Amino acid sequence: MKRLNSGARHFPRQARSFERQRLFYDHDDHDDHDDRPERASRTGLWLMACLTCMAFACDAQTPSSPSSAPASSSPPPPPAVGSDSRPNILLYIVDTLRADALGPYRGDPKQTPEIGKFARDAIVFENAFAQSSWTRASVASILTSQYPRAHGAEDRGDRLAGAAQLISETLTEHGYYTGLITTNPNVGAFFGFDQGFDDLIEMFAAKTDDVVTPKELIASADDVAKRVNHWIDNAPKPFFLVVLSIDPHSPYSPPTRFTDAASDYRGQATGSGPWINRKDLTADDKAHIRALYQAEVNYADYGFGLVINHLRTQGLYEKTITALTSDHGEEFWEHGRRGHGRGLFHEVLHVPLVIRAPARTSELGTRDSTLVETIDILPTLLESVGLTATGDISGRSLFGPKPTLNPGAFASLKLGDHHLASVRSGKWNLVWDLESGNKQLFDGSEGADVQVRTGAEARTAALSRNLEAHLASTALQRKALHGNSTGPSLRLDEIPDAERQLLIELGYIDDGPSPETRPPSK
Ligand SMILES: [Zn+2]
Repeated sequence: MKRLNSGARHFPRQARSFERQRLFYDHDDHDDHDDRPERASRTGLWLMACLTCMAFACDAQTPSSPSSAPASSSPPPPPAVGSDSRPNILLYIVDTLRADALGPYRGDPKQTPEIGKFARDAIVFENAFAQSSWTRASVASILTSQYPRAHGAEDRGDRLAGAAQLISETLTEHGYYTGLITTNPNVGAFFGFDQGFDDLIEMFAAKTDDVVTPKELIASADDVAKRVNHWIDNAPKPFFLVVLSIDPHSPYSPPTRFTDAASDYRGQATGSGPWINRKDLTADDKAHIRALYQAEVNYADYGFGLVINHLRTQGLYEKTITALTSDHGEEFWEHGRRGHGRGLFHEVLHVPLVIRAPARTSELGTRDSTLVETIDILPTLLESVGLTATGDISGRSLFGPKPTLNPGAFASLKLGDHHLASVRSGKWNLVWDLESGNKQLFDGSEGADVQVRTGAEARTAALSRNLEAHLASTALQRKALHGNSTGPSLRLDEIPDAERQLLIELGYIDDGPSPETRPPSK
């Protein structure tokens, strides 16, 4: 792994010839690939899940579960990098992006026109749900196709285990040149996300270079697109690139060209703290803050467009499988609070998922309303280049046959004082507080979760059984990954200053409860 600071001035142009090595962080408890516990049999876990599900009345349409393909045996020797014509893969994750902020999801072509144009030439998965409501846990699920309770990178001090099998590792084994360009320290080398990547570009660690200005801790869509396009131009082909951009994440401070010049808001609220966390905001203040978020989304859309248009002009668009998604959404007082990482409601779990596989011409321009999860991205991308997953995965390929049973979309949150698990099935969302035991049922049929206060006993009981089966199967997966330990974790004061400074800025660390994780107002 070649770790390139955001200000790095060079790129490896040659075929992979350098040693994979950690250039910066080297933690004894983090990268011990030689001490992996035995992996649980994926087939065995699926069988257990099936038996539990059958015993307890699964609710709706699909299996939760692992896709049908077993883990493959040893892969054939990969072609030399740059010597074959397999498609590139671009996985573009926009941090904190609600699905309903995008034109293709809200039926408003004026919003996010670049993503709209891309979506009309791709498959739009209308009902895609993230596996957690904060960055580290959710992105780890995307890259491993495991639920958070299985991979264990759940709380603020948790690292992604070295034993976890990331899609980057699988594609590396099959000859892909791999890169990660990340703007959020939660998805950086320090927390274990460098595994399997030839290049790692952290656009947050250096704050005095030409990309991230000293005043701007968060890299902008322009800066990210510039760096992404440069990497694409110089990377050996085929490549696999993961991008995590961050504009919609608070603070909401979009360039003025993306704000609504016609707004008649005359209040004082801004998109930064302490305003966005105040308890005395008026309806106009809240609408203004939401509009600033939407402007950030449109800015992120612009940045995504810069990358897609670059692929087109470089003749790579038809040679690249592109997936656009998010790690979670954002609450805007639907349930009394703003932010993410505190609940498992529709507004923080419903994320965009738009995939374009150029060779699948009959599917381009279509929409799919099946309930899917972001853990499905890994097996889908691998299948699209003719590969099957090599790890203990829980997702299924969205290019495969549709499942006949579906226990639902699962999510969990173990962050600070919040310890929740949820299952969404059809229009229902059951949220279980694992500390208090309290269970709440929500009806999400109108695109927002509304609590069902009466007559919910039978539905709650059925969904609870699904959730119990999920908790049991993920506990087994976690044990297979970590053995009897809880997984790599650390105290918050062990986080280096560079990561720590931005995590504070983003609200993940504070001396007390952080703005993003502060208990909800009553
Ligand atoms: Zn995030």
